[in-house]
Amino acid sequence: MRIYLSRPDITEKEIQAVTDVLRSPNLSLGPKLPEFENAFAKYSGVKRAVAVNSGTSGLYLCLLALGIGKGDEVITTPFTFIATSNVIMMAGAEPVFVDIDPVSMNIDVGAIERKITRKTKAIIPVEVFGNPADFDKICQIAEKHKLIVLEDCCEALGSALNGKKAGTFGKMSVFAFYPNKQITTGEGGMILTDDDDLADMCVSLRNQGRAKAGGWLSHERLGYNYRLSDINCALGMVQLSRVDEMKTKRQQVARWYQENLAGDDRFVVPTEPAGCDINWFVFVIRLADRFTRQNREEILQKMREAGVQVSNYFTPVHLQPFMVEQFGFKPGDFSVTESIADRTIALPYYNNLTKDEVKIVCDELRRAVDSL
Ligand SMILES: *Cc1c(COP(=O)(O)O)cnc(C)c1O
Repeated sequence: MRIYLSRPDITEKEIQAVTDVLRSPNLSLGPKLPEFENAFAKYSGVKRAVAVNSGTSGLYLCLLALGIGKGDEVITTPFTFIATSNVIMMAGAEPVFVDIDPVSMNIDVGAIERKITRKTKAIIPVEVFGNPADFDKICQIAEKHKLIVLEDCCEALGSALNGKKAGTFGKMSVFAFYPNKQITTGEGGMILTDDDDLADMCVSLRNQGRAKAGGWLSHERLGYNYRLSDINCALGMVQLSRVDEMKTKRQQVARWYQENLAGDDRFVVPTEPAGCDINWFVFVIRLADRFTRQNREEILQKMREAGVQVSNYFTPVHLQPFMVEQFGFKPGDFSVTESIADRTIALPYYNNLTKDEVKIVCDELRRAVDSL
């Protein structure tokens, strides 16, 4: 590959911080865990932060802490990473999909209320690719119908809507730190909430159901090992301290793409909607409606052959084989999602991508489309 889809941004500072932990006696449940949690809570302006070993385990613990399970329905979007709906099924509840808005690519606010039943307990909206555009309206609907909002902001660290940060819209919210996210801990996640009881429950659940007081071999409830080690937390501390610097770089790369692709009606290029300040997770353009899925596949293939790593974020969740098998979903069930998913191209996007590399990517993209 000449140009990768994603690259972590690790400096000597991160390496030093990780090394310091390795030289200490506390590799897990040491001082770096509360340090990272407190710094994250402070950055987000939320009362409590609970670190866990992945975004997926964070979302799952939130559902458990909220008491959502068998017999409950949870509304979410089929245009997301698979974890969003997997956690609903892991908790024993049923995912109820609502199609997406074609502009924001987030859950279609106008279609949510039709899917609310007596069984509906929560909505899990996702800030897809980092875009928080529809969150105010989602929260209004949830309030009206007394539903809990669990915010899957795993793709939106550093984004904001009208000055309000991602991670502050839900009753609980979850970030993720896999290496392709805005900041990384290798693997990891963070639960945020203003509710002490929910936070305490997550602290217990991530650590084998241990009680606050009671000791290492006292287990108050069924729990898990979803702890985040001090090695990961030390890495996260440094990454979090650089989040604004990294956001500036990411926004610059986005602008280079926007400038380079401007005025070409073959592409729909992401822009910031009014009121949004977006720290993009990935930079996903779309082919115009006249192109087919087959066209997109050929373009991906040609770009890869040219050494440019690209991807097709996302394939619709409801059409994943195990979802079809369990729920009987079929093509056409969520037509906006499917139509958009057929035409997306995630372009290489990371902090240190250069202007010259952006030009290479755009040239290869045009060359691939020209040759269809
Ligand atoms: C990354 C991501 C997650 C969680 O991912 P992990 O790999 O478990 O950390 C959840 N939801 C969305 C939308 C994501 O992009």
